[in-house]
Amino acid sequence: MSEPGPSPLAAGETNLSVAQARAAIAAALRPIREVHDVPVLDALGRVLAADVMSPIDVPAHDNSAMDGFAFASSDLRADAPTVLRLAGTILAGAAFAGRVGAGECVRIMTGAVMPAGLDTVVPLELARIDGELVRIEPGAIAPGENRRRRGEDLARGKPAVHAGRVLKPADLGLIASLGIERVTVLRRLRVALFSTGNELRTLGQPLDPGCVYDSNRYSLHGALRRLGLEVLDLGVVRDDPQALQGALAAAVAQADVVLTSGGVSAGDADYIRDVLERMGEVAFWKVAMRPGRPFAFGPLCAPGSARTTWLFALPGNPVAALVTFYVFARDALLQLAGARPEALPVLQAQSAQAIRKRPGRTEFQRGRVERAPDGRWQVQLTGTQGAGILRSMSEANCLVVLNHEQGSVATGEPVDVLLFDGLT
Ligand code: AMP
Ligand code: MG
Repeated sequence: MSEPGPSPLAAGETNLSVAQARAAIAAALRPIREVHDVPVLDALGRVLAADVMSPIDVPAHDNSAMDGFAFASSDLRADAPTVLRLAGTILAGAAFAGRVGAGECVRIMTGAVMPAGLDTVVPLELARIDGELVRIEPGAIAPGENRRRRGEDLARGKPAVHAGRVLKPADLGLIASLGIERVTVLRRLRVALFSTGNELRTLGQPLDPGCVYDSNRYSLHGALRRLGLEVLDLGVVRDDPQALQGALAAAVAQADVVLTSGGVSAGDADYIRDVLERMGEVAFWKVAMRPGRPFAFGPLCAPGSARTTWLFALPGNPVAALVTFYVFARDALLQLAGARPEALPVLQAQSAQAIRKRPGRTEFQRGRVERAPDGRWQVQLTGTQGAGILRSMSEANCLVVLNHEQGSVATGEPVDVLLFDGLT
């Protein structure tokens, strides 16, 4: 289980920038350590616990990068056509049994082992075949071309994939190319999830006057699952100290992290503060951002246990809940899960409209980034940007990030965008 780091309390209650809040959270967290082995086929999205060292050279032999004719570059002539005698054919997966003498070449397929002494491959389309003879025009090919060297992809004994990598399809392929069947991964981080609010109704219940369906649990469940985390769904908890304490105790007993939404805004905060004060060192954070303040973060302790469970109490507004999740919880959860932090790529796109913005806070607007007819990337905000309007998030494919010091944006000005989906 995770260990407590320095208390984040010192950072609480002040008007932090987004960057300061993220840094304070990162400084407090300690990753989980328990590991287990899984077959490579089951390792997609898991966090690698130790470097995978290559037990072999990849490729294992010098081999051809092209279908063509392999020969020794010492036979290559610069001033006149090179004419070689065809001594045989090598297929992929087989070694050449015969000898290749001076002035000779062999037909070779992509990936086939280069016979000893040969170092160059002329592609089929650059050679002229005339019976037993292969003719190469001067300048068509340089010495050493189209030969892949043994170990050029990976040398034996060198790390092939580093600890902390969230394994992607290419990583699985790379590990398999080394002949390795199982990998050691960190166990999945367990996140207990609940929503708070007397007005929330669970799907299947009638929607009484003044009530709304609990949507945050569904958005956040999806966001957690996409990170490859284990989710414990604890449902909806009423705005009531006993109910909250009970839910938190159940969460702390089972999970590394508790993720909640709602109940941390000014009106609710008093009794929540009392409950949280008794259970750990949670701080209420006022971050200079829109949407999404305030939220609470800090360690909770199970009675009689040295183990720490980290609480992320997000605001209840559906957009604010998801935005604060992406801005503060996402990277923190990956860090706790043992993943090496990898900054999300921030791209620039031209704003298709003017956007009003006050310097001194970070704003996250919802947008759709698309290719404009002139080939440039352009971003358009998705409708009304209220913190409760989930459709703005659903229709978006990115967050438009208006940075702390930035002021209003004119039409056509570049803005930072954070894409929701990437090729991973
Ligand atoms: P709160 O942060 O609890 O003051 O909630 C702010 C707003 O978000 C209120 O209008 C709530 O009804 C709404 N809200 C809170 N939690 C949820 C939820 N789980 N699903 C949908 N709306 C919510
Ligand atoms: Mg509420």
